[in-house]
Amino acid sequence: MKLSTKIIIALIAGAVVGVLINAFAPSAFAPLDKYLFTPLGQIFLSLIKMLVVPIVFFSITLGVAGLGDPKKLGRIGAKTVSYFLVTTTIAIIIGLILAYAIKPGTFGSFDTKNASFEAEKAPPVGETFLNMIPVNPIQAMAEGNMLQLIVFSIFIGFGITMLGSKTKGLYNLLEQGNELMMYLVNLVMKFAPYGTFGLLATAVGSQGWEAIKAMGLYMIVVVLALFIHSIVTYGGSVALMARRNPIEFFKGFAPAMTVGFSTSSSNATLPISMNVAQKNLRVPESISSFVQPLGATINMDGTAIMQGVATIFIAQVYGVDLALGALVTVVLTAVLASIGTAGVPGVGLIMLAMVLSSVGLPVAGIGLIIGIDRLLDMLRTSVNITGDAACAVIVAESEAKRIDKSVTQSA
Ligand code: ASP
Repeated sequence: MKLSTKIIIALIAGAVVGVLINAFAPSAFAPLDKYLFTPLGQIFLSLIKMLVVPIVFFSITLGVAGLGDPKKLGRIGAKTVSYFLVTTTIAIIIGLILAYAIKPGTFGSFDTKNASFEAEKAPPVGETFLNMIPVNPIQAMAEGNMLQLIVFSIFIGFGITMLGSKTKGLYNLLEQGNELMMYLVNLVMKFAPYGTFGLLATAVGSQGWEAIKAMGLYMIVVVLALFIHSIVTYGGSVALMARRNPIEFFKGFAPAMTVGFSTSSSNATLPISMNVAQKNLRVPESISSFVQPLGATINMDGTAIMQGVATIFIAQVYGVDLALGALVTVVLTAVLASIGTAGVPGVGLIMLAMVLSSVGLPVAGIGLIIGIDRLLDMLRTSVNITGDAACAVIVAESEAKRIDKSVTQSA
């Protein structure tokens, strides 16, 4: 049986087991979770997280060194960031339109008096960018600071290109390191079915179904927006800009999407999403290794959708009318908030505080949606990483076209 089929079966089995325990034997959940589900999930998560920092370092360094020409890096960087910004803006607008049309906050009754949320201090987005240059690269690696690690790796890759044959030995070493990491990703993936089973059983088994009933319409709006964005924006852009069959794109990337779904973490899924994009979507390593780690750090369309819908939902529950100017503010701050969201579980909700404050909505409103956010986090993480892969495919095709053109011109 193919590994991706095994993962999907495990995913469904985990969800079914979670639902059954929740419905028929709730008291059995705690011990089963403690001794079976959580350990399975945790082992898998730790195994893939173990590979993130070395993979990002090896692959970006090699990718940049492999580009050969610093101008090419600038061009790829500009295309990547433009795609990220445009698609994130579209994502929020889809979320806002659906939330306005379906009005999830006006049906049912919501307990706003007891809703509370301690807003952890969200890291200011400007500061994150100012701190992009690592004062201590080893610390950046130890702390898993993605943006800093990306910048350091770009510098090393650039240096290797400029020094050419002088750094041949180092280049070979990095190549071997990268090869080794890719081998380990494939090895670790063998455990994925067990891990996803455990993660799903924990997430679904610990879910309060009452909360889901109360928040059903809000969840439907978020899921609908995620779905539309994936099909229209990603499917459409892959078809139009990369001239690739969108169905093949989604099918090829599905194994990574299932892992993103079960881990709820773009960062943790990175080794797998890169591996899958390179193998199944034929994205050259030099492009995948630049676009995807950057995307896992700053490109979060699924998160932006949730933030847009949640803002309108909270405004509706609290009976606040947002004027057009306020909506523009929501779009702008949600773009920033999603960029500032780290690719780990649940951070999108913390960053939502920033969007709510920007238009004077009560941050306590987050308390209303926190109970069901775990499930939505799974879906939006899959969308987040799919956006990175779509971008990688489009950039790869446009670069390939340039090469084709220059070959025909020189022929
Ligand atoms: N869990 C999401 C991710 O890793 C971030 C979030 O929205 O909380 O992509």
